[in-house]
Amino acid sequence: MNFTLQTPFISKLSNKIFTDIEVDVLRTDIIHEIVSGNKWYKLKHHITEAKKQQKNTIITFGGAYSNHIVATAFACKVVGLQSIGIIRGEKPENLSHTLVAAKMYGMQLHFVSRTIYADKESLKKYYNNDCYWINEGGYGTLGMLGAAEILHDVDTSKYTHIFCSCGTGTMLAGLLLAAKPHQQIMGVSALKSHTGLEQDIINLLPIEKKIQPNILHNYHFGGYAKHPKSLIDFMNTFWEAEKIPTDIVYTSKLFYAVIDVWKKNFFAKNDKPLIIHCGGLQGNLSLPTGTLVF
Ligand SMILES: *Cc1c(COP(=O)(O)O)cnc(C)c1O
Repeated sequence: MNFTLQTPFISKLSNKIFTDIEVDVLRTDIIHEIVSGNKWYKLKHHITEAKKQQKNTIITFGGAYSNHIVATAFACKVVGLQSIGIIRGEKPENLSHTLVAAKMYGMQLHFVSRTIYADKESLKKYYNNDCYWINEGGYGTLGMLGAAEILHDVDTSKYTHIFCSCGTGTMLAGLLLAAKPHQQIMGVSALKSHTGLEQDIINLLPIEKKIQPNILHNYHFGGYAKHPKSLIDFMNTFWEAEKIPTDIVYTSKLFYAVIDVWKKNFFAKNDKPLIIHCGGLQGNLSLPTGTLVF
C-alpha cells in the first residue's frame, strides 16, 4: 500500500473572487488521498506513541462521516497496527462510504447507541490493555502538537491571518501554538451552536499560551455535514473560479466564511490572509454522482 506523503504547498487565489486583496491557500489536502490534511498531522505522534508503548491496536471514536475514522484506519494499516472504530449510532443498513472505506482498510467497526457513545470513559473497560486510545477527532495534546507542524512545513511567517475550519478545535489549538505574535488565527466552526469549542481549545493549550480563540460560528449551513443546495452551488462556483476542490463538511464552509467576512470589510488594506485547506474530500463521496462538477 502506498504511503508516500506529498509536501503541502501554498497557492495564490486568482482575483476572480477576492478582487482587492491577495489571499493564499495552504494545500494540506494534497499530502495524501486518504490520510489527507490535518488528519495525518493529528495522528502522527499518536502512532509513534502507540508503537513506543508496544500496543497492537489503535482504537478511536467517530460518526459515519468521520474523516478521522477513515484516516486512522488507513494509517494503522500502513504502519502495521490493528484498528477499532467505535461508531456513534446503531449500525445502518447501508454503511456510509467513509465506513465502507474504514472497513476495507481493516478497521473493526463497533456500533454503539448515542447514549453509550456519550459516555466514552465507561466504554474503555470493555477493551483490553493492548489498545491505544485516541479521542474522537484526535482531540488532545499529541494531536495539537502534530497540527502545530502544519505551520512549519512551509514558510507561513508573512501572513497576518490564518484561517482553518474547526471540528474539535485540535488543529486550531496547534496553529495557536505555532503562530507568530503578529498572526491572528481564525477558526470557522463546522458545527451548529458548538458553545464549548473555545473552552475545549483553551483547555488544550499550555498555560503560558492560553488565549481566547477567535471562532466564527455562523457558517455551519444548518449543522455538521449539512449541505443545502446553496452550499453545493458555492462549491461548484468556487471550483470553476479557482480549480480547488472543497468538501461538504468543513472546507466549503471555511472558504465561504472567509469570502463573506471579506465582503463585510473584515480585512485591512495590507492584511495577508492564508486559508488552510485541511483536506476531508473523501466526505463528498456520500453525494449522488453529478452533484459536484469536480
Ligand atoms: C477533521 C477536519 C477538521 C476538524 O479538525 P479539528 O482538529 O477536529 O478541529 C477540519 N477540516 C477538515 C477538512 C477535517 O477533515
